Amino acid sequence: MKTFGKSHKLDNVCYDIRGPVMDAASEMEARGETILKLNIGNPAYFGFKAPDNVINMIENSLPDTEGYSDSKGLKSAREAIVRYCKKKNIPNVGLNDVYTGNGVSELITMSMQGLLDNGDEILVPSPDYPLWTASVTLAGGTAVHYICDEKAHWYPDLEDMEKKITGRTKGIVVINPNNPTGSLYPKEVLQGIAELARKYGLILFADEIYDRLVMDGKVHTALASLAPDLLTVSFNGLSKSHLIAGYRCGWMCLCGDKSKAKGYIEGINLLSAMRLCSNVPAQSVIPTALDDKNNSEDILKPGGRIYSQREYIYNRLNSIPGISAQKPDAAFYVFPKMDERFGIKDDEKFALDFLREKHILITHGGGFHWEKPNHFRIVYLPELDVLKEACDRMEEFFTSYRQ
Ligand code: PLP
Repeated sequence: MKTFGKSHKLDNVCYDIRGPVMDAASEMEARGETILKLNIGNPAYFGFKAPDNVINMIENSLPDTEGYSDSKGLKSAREAIVRYCKKKNIPNVGLNDVYTGNGVSELITMSMQGLLDNGDEILVPSPDYPLWTASVTLAGGTAVHYICDEKAHWYPDLEDMEKKITGRTKGIVVINPNNPTGSLYPKEVLQGIAELARKYGLILFADEIYDRLVMDGKVHTALASLAPDLLTVSFNGLSKSHLIAGYRCGWMCLCGDKSKAKGYIEGINLLSAMRLCSNVPAQSVIPTALDDKNNSEDILKPGGRIYSQREYIYNRLNSIPGISAQKPDAAFYVFPKMDERFGIKDDEKFALDFLREKHILITHGGGFHWEKPNHFRIVYLPELDVLKEACDRMEEFFTSYRQ
């Protein structure tokens, strides 16, 4: 019998968000131990329910969505996405510029596979949502990380970004609102990024899946709306805003100036056709989901569940000696810092020690390509009583933990 190894294409793909900490958690669960999970951005896991109209729509559409759709998606879904783009001032998006996908994840990978040759570089934030780095690497490219500056509310450091642009750079990835920091970027920062793309002839990749999960009355600006003269590939979906991560429903739009991207678009069309189409019942809910008022509004305003949980976690974290955190503006993540007193040299070891000692699963900063071993991410989706229990245990842990 032959033995089978891992493809060499995966050798440099680092996806630390999985790995030894997750393995240890699975072993503990298999032994019957209970773990508080502050590591997964999956609202349904924490009791969030999708809006009734979305569920009804998917149920009602089942008899009519048995077949494949056009590889880019149902016309009705793409029309709704085009309307949404108009609402957000995203320029020059027609039906043919929209691709639905099995979540944004599939489309991130497709956008990189269609573009990169070996050695091409893409600027990716640090910290990042790690699928971006993995997708660049899998496509043969090199992810070059630009710093997001904690002292500047985690905004991208434009000087650092410019320093890292080389003759091989093809694009800049911007995740706004951001996972893992929860930061929402102001217009001036986005304009600065667009200016760099303009100066060096780069494509913008705007991952805006959290654009409908913004708090404190702040307003999300779509990156493409500031760059009608550039090519922006913009990504969005319903996993988070409509709490239906399991249905796998996302989309990608080619926006702005497409005149220099004929070959790239051919590549994407080919890859889109190769996977036939995305889940058709999930596509059928897009018009209902996008044309209605923002379903998540209630959970995001004062008194709402996400808002209250954000307030709680932010205040509790900052009250623990040695721990500090920027206040998240959006989504449901916070990325706290651990100061020098803990002597942490290996943040994955910290996550493992914390798991074994306190039965809480968080993700270490390295999982998001954050180089220094001094951060971790908390998903604050669990109910307040669970967050309180987690914070009590965390406070106790940090009283004595030294590496
Ligand atoms: N982009 C970001 C920034 C995310 O945080 C996630 C999921 O957590 C995704 C993309 C992928 O979302 P999905 O594939 O469910 O659409």
